[in-house]
Amino acid sequence: MAASVLPSEVRSDLSAAALTSIGVGGPIAHLWPVQHPQDARNALAYARDRDLPWWVLGGGSNVVAADAGLLGVVVQPAKPAGLGVEILDVSDKCVLVRVRAGVAWDELVAHSVAQGWQGIECLSGIPGQVGAAPIQNIGAYGQEFSEVAVAVHALDTRTLASVRLESAACQFGYRSSVFKTNPDQFIVLGVDVALQRDRPPCLAYAQVRDALAETAQPSLTQVRQTVLALRRAKGMVLDPNDPDSRSCGSFFVNPVVPAETAAAVLADLVRPGETAPRWPQPAGTVKLSAAWLLERCGLGRGHGQGRVGLSTKHTLAVVNRGGATAAEVLAFADEVAQAVQARCGVTLLREPVLLGTPSLGDSAPTAAT
Ligand SMILES: Cc1cc2nc3c(=O)[nH]c(=O)nc-3n(C[C@H](O)[C@H](O)[C@H](O)COP(=O)(O)OP(=O)(O)OC[C@H]3O[C@@H](n4cnc5c(N)ncnc54)[C@H](O)[C@@H]3O)c2cc1C
Repeated sequence: MAASVLPSEVRSDLSAAALTSIGVGGPIAHLWPVQHPQDARNALAYARDRDLPWWVLGGGSNVVAADAGLLGVVVQPAKPAGLGVEILDVSDKCVLVRVRAGVAWDELVAHSVAQGWQGIECLSGIPGQVGAAPIQNIGAYGQEFSEVAVAVHALDTRTLASVRLESAACQFGYRSSVFKTNPDQFIVLGVDVALQRDRPPCLAYAQVRDALAETAQPSLTQVRQTVLALRRAKGMVLDPNDPDSRSCGSFFVNPVVPAETAAAVLADLVRPGETAPRWPQPAGTVKLSAAWLLERCGLGRGHGQGRVGLSTKHTLAVVNRGGATAAEVLAFADEVAQAVQARCGVTLLREPVLLGTPSLGDSAPTAAT
């Protein structure tokens, strides 16, 4: 085990509220930047020697941190000095790149689009770091991280060994992975992704296709700009001038239920002439739209009074309207989930991860845990 001392770059003057997009959570005892596996080993040794809890924090866009704070070691991948993107291999068709965990995800997308590399253009505007992309297998507008993932480099916190997990070993699923289901086992330090050099942009998502209907052969840049515009209209791009973006993005994942449950729920809630959103999944299950369920249960945009409520632009985002606590956020989210459960019997699972011990309201478990 490495020497157990506090390096000078470790900070003790920050709060989780300042480092997370939803802006809640108390003080952080030790914010420990990591660049290399040895930094992470040192951080874990420090925590273990003192019997302190530890967590990993990326860009803070998918966590709700406890009001009591994170009174231990918070490991955070550091932004690399350069771009943090290394080309490992290139052919006519494909480029294989290694990206450091501390790179901002959207900087990777912008760089890839500028280089003409296809595969992640629809994931434009997702906040957070590259190191977090595999955790819940980020996805949006017809693409998912797993489609380009070749391998994930991480520190295994049980053995302290550096490991390389091939994509198949990452067990990627809908907002899920081996990292999400084993939350304390890996600290992701980098990813290898394969991007295409000879492919047109992805137009799988109807809203993107419709927005570009008049454009013959849209470019990667046009798709990126379209996705960013669609996201901005929904408060889904972090923007200090948009109070609706003070959130974790979607607070609930779309529920996947047995086909019979889906049929019963839809028969009950669908209005005449309406086609409800539903996506058949493997093993006779159906994915329903959590946003649609909320709306049908009377919980529309802007719902809620006080310091926490639903976004006025996107039903699924729980927003800190100013000065809210983690306890208030979780209590409000519980209320919403319970209302849906009571009205149509569907359990909504929380997408963001709780860091620290929440003081109140915890009936909606995190997805995939
Ligand atoms: C406005 C907004 C829009 C969003 N839109 C989308 C979207 O379209 N699609 C989507 O999938 N998500 C979306 N999100 C959620 C979020 O941006 C993603 O989940 C993102 O990948 C989180 O990255 P982060 O660096 O902020 O992670 P954090 O929020 O800091 O951490 C999230 C979880 O991952 C763990 N973690 C983070 N980094 C590492 C690491 N290096 N090693 C091990 N564990 C780690 C943390 O411990 C925590 O459990 C949105 C969020 C917001 C605020």
